[in-house]
Amino acid sequence: MNDCIFCRIVDGRIPSEKLFENDRVLAILDINPVAPGHALVLTKAHHELVTDLPADLLAEWIARTQEIARAVVKAASAEGFNLLSNNHKCSGQAIPHVHFHVIPRRTGDGIKFAWVPVKYPEGEMGAWAEKIRKAMG
Ligand code: 5GP
Ligand code: ZN
Repeated sequence: MNDCIFCRIVDGRIPSEKLFENDRVLAILDINPVAPGHALVLTKAHHELVTDLPADLLAEWIARTQEIARAVVKAASAEGFNLLSNNHKCSGQAIPHVHFHVIPRRTGDGIKFAWVPVKYPEGEMGAWAEKIRKAMG
């Protein structure tokens, strides 16, 4: 994809601070980190959504992401991390090329993800569970 920023990073047309690379996965530092050490783990092939990935690439991507997360936590002397993937622009995905964010975290670091939890109206939780179970069939 010619106009995709991450495809350009994968093929070297845009420089990046590389952390890891093999034939299918590339990990880089995010240029605008939420915290120092914030990493992005990309598939080298262009797919927009997690749900678009073939199973073998999905397995490789998550396995390498686990290794990157261990390294980020160690290097940042972090206590934990957030692992997140925005899927579709409606979710906040700015670059439509599948990636995980790995964000090192410490108690009291002040990082907040702005979501507002609500309660299901009476009786609707079970209905939602049933709807999703059916959709898996
Ligand atoms: P998204 O919103 O798509 O989940 O996240 C895209 C991320 O890519 C953002 O956190 C943004 O800072 C990062 N980003 C955007 N352009 C570049 C770039 O050219 N180089 C690097 N290393 N990161 C980028
Ligand atoms: Zn791409």
